Amino acid sequence: MAVISGDEYKQRIDRLQSDVWITGKKIEGPISRHPAFKGAIQSQSELYDLQKTPDYCDVFIHTDESGRSFGTSYLIPKSLTDLAKKRKMVQMRARYTGGLMGRSPDYMNTVLAAFRSSVHILEGEENCFPENIVKLYERATELDLSFTHTFINPQNNRSLLAFIDDDQPNARVIDRTDEGIVVHGAKLLATQGGMTDEIIVFSPPGVVDQSQAFAFSIPSDTKGLTFVCRKSFTGNGSGFDSPLSTRFDEMDSLVMFDHVVVPWERVFYYDNNKVANDFFTASSFAPFTLHQIVSRQVVKTEFVLGIARMIVDSINISEYEHVQTKMTEIIKGLECARALLIQSEVEAEKDERGVVIPGCGPLYVAVNLFQDTYPRFAEIIQILGASGMVCLPDEGQFDSPIGEDLSRYMKGCDIGGKERVQLFNLAADLCMSQFGSRQTLYERFFFGDPVRLSKTIYQAYNFDGYKTFAKSFLERE
Ligand SMILES: Cc1cc2nc3c(=O)[nH]c(=O)nc-3n(C[C@H](O)[C@H](O)[C@H](O)COP(=O)(O)OP(=O)(O)OC[C@H]3O[C@@H](n4cnc5c(N)ncnc54)[C@H](O)[C@@H]3O)c2cc1C
Repeated sequence: MAVISGDEYKQRIDRLQSDVWITGKKIEGPISRHPAFKGAIQSQSELYDLQKTPDYCDVFIHTDESGRSFGTSYLIPKSLTDLAKKRKMVQMRARYTGGLMGRSPDYMNTVLAAFRSSVHILEGEENCFPENIVKLYERATELDLSFTHTFINPQNNRSLLAFIDDDQPNARVIDRTDEGIVVHGAKLLATQGGMTDEIIVFSPPGVVDQSQAFAFSIPSDTKGLTFVCRKSFTGNGSGFDSPLSTRFDEMDSLVMFDHVVVPWERVFYYDNNKVANDFFTASSFAPFTLHQIVSRQVVKTEFVLGIARMIVDSINISEYEHVQTKMTEIIKGLECARALLIQSEVEAEKDERGVVIPGCGPLYVAVNLFQDTYPRFAEIIQILGASGMVCLPDEGQFDSPIGEDLSRYMKGCDIGGKERVQLFNLAADLCMSQFGSRQTLYERFFFGDPVRLSKTIYQAYNFDGYKTFAKSFLERE
């Protein structure tokens, strides 16, 4: 089995019967039929089906030197061609969702590939099992497994001295037994929790407490593991009224661990905060994951730009200078993200193991920029759409006796009434619905706090050449 179909994905997730709670009830029966998950699981399954489409096989399936075939999303690039193939694969999937599913299968598959290509960091270190990452990677590529992940601790005490507070609810290792480590406590967030075969759990960057310095992967139905969902943002279920939330609400959940036994063969490392930190700073996690993220964000910006331009045309506001300036803000965001993505490939380097790693500098800048520009794009769409963003009769009204009047009064400059409402529904769902607001929050935070990310960029930046350059002016005769 090189890659699975959407149906195979759905059947596997339904069979798990993971412990998922929403509105005070445990989900019983197939999760793919639950109203809060139906749309996202269907979209995710369509993303799996794409890789089965004969025309796209060359993009979605990779065959290595040994003749083994697997999903390109798991590919560890050995050449610039491989890296470009990964970008193309991510962007083909993102085109299907408008870039709105941050956790399309290629996201976590890329993370796992990054882990696999960084196992040398764990070799010979205390309490580390690099071979378990290798085995998981082999199994995942074989079975085309799906993953969610969680690393952030509950938002309980974020002060700099929080590590001396021993009353924190953070998941930690409370026992080490013959069977494995025993984990108890909670992790703040897993997007798509309960929608995947497995969950990868690891400590947050800068972990100080040894008992919280771990990484492992377990099946979503592991005993003692519970996913507690937020409220559903799926809208009213109509593809006309809520075109995006109906399809792409990925769900976020708190993850609770009640004395969860993680078998030794599932542990990557434990009780080692030095390795826990090194695994993120020195591994290929950031460059590979960011390359996936920015590839998707480019497509999302294209989607936003298309919607913005359609709004401009539908009410004929193109002649106004501030409208042009705002549209140009989106264009600048798009062209910068595209250029930074390609620059990361231009700066890619082969490591000692022959893995081609994209340049991290441009990618960090791209993701940190997007944390500011995406919320601004959402604001620009609101400003351009104005009252049109709320004056949106539902689909049923167009099919009622007043439908004809409605079509006349709601018509745009270049489109009919129903089509204009459909367009503005799309825009409102993108940037004003609960789903849309979550999208904005997602792009702001999912890869880390923008403030601390800027700090990381600053601290890691090599200023030497620029200082020497500037100094040479001072030294001129
Ligand atoms: C929609 C969404 C989906 C997500 N999905 C996942 C997921 O699937 N898996 C996962 O593990 N995580 C996920 N995350 C979590 C994401 O990684 C965090 O939101 C991010 O790392 C920021 O952490 P926090 O939310 O706990 O914010 P906090 O750290 O609590 O920050 C809150 C505020 O305090 C400020 N602050 C806190 N500490 C400092 C400091 N040291 N210095 C300066 N300012 C500080 C921040 O700037 C911010 O304004 C998701 C987040 C969102 C919003």
